[in-house]
Amino acid sequence: MEPPDDHRDARLVTALGSVRARIADACAAAGRDPQSVTLIAVTKTRPASDVATLARLGVLDIGEARDQEARAKIAELAEFPGAPIDLRWHLVGRLQTNKARSVVTYARAVHSLDRPKLARALAEAAAERRPEPLEVFVQVSLDGDPERGGVAEAELSALAEAVASRPQLQLRGVMAVAPIEADAEAAFAKLAELAARVRSDHPGADAISAGMSDDLEAAVRNGSTHVRVGSALLGRRAQVFG
Ligand SMILES: *Cc1c(COP(=O)(O)O)cnc(C)c1O
Repeated sequence: MEPPDDHRDARLVTALGSVRARIADACAAAGRDPQSVTLIAVTKTRPASDVATLARLGVLDIGEARDQEARAKIAELAEFPGAPIDLRWHLVGRLQTNKARSVVTYARAVHSLDRPKLARALAEAAAERRPEPLEVFVQVSLDGDPERGGVAEAELSALAEAVASRPQLQLRGVMAVAPIEADAEAAFAKLAELAARVRSDHPGADAISAGMSDDLEAAVRNGSTHVRVGSALLGRRAQVFG
């Protein structure tokens, strides 16, 4: 366990205030209710003590890129005095099917569902191992680059249907990462269009997971309901996973 670090806690308070202000300003500019945007703090590579601090500050939606790291943090947090029990864990990184049985035991949502095989693995694991459906965002590739994850636009409808047809999964909507070097505004406008298409087939799938530290304003302008923010809250990572 990391020793308590008051200095780091104070920095986190400041950073959180500034991220919340950015979201509020972007919502105001877009004529949106700030309550319509959920802040997910992406804590990958950061210690469990950061998660505990965020929880004390009211941030209960926590994002992780890797199952193994999420599980380790959850185990560590259980040992903390006054451990936060009502955290909502979001898996935002690429997921191997062999992690499905683990993920369904603790995750509220998977944001990176990108293939039918993973939908099947998660649904089968959820049927066995959890009482309520797993929330799912279908990740879409905005530039067609398979390296960066996400289903191609042409396969989005079929994949959304594959999720929606499984009672153990709840299709929440779409997710994307803005392509490197692309104009975030254009990328998220495109995502909004794809989200509307999915929503016309599945009216309950009205969520959009988009926006990170550097582009959350563009995402909020284009309808994002879930922003996934890491470095703007917790500082730059030495190494980026996922
Ligand atoms: C790391 C990560 C984030 C957070 O990125 P920052 O730029 O640090 O805010 C968001 N989404 C995904 C999928 C990530 O892997």
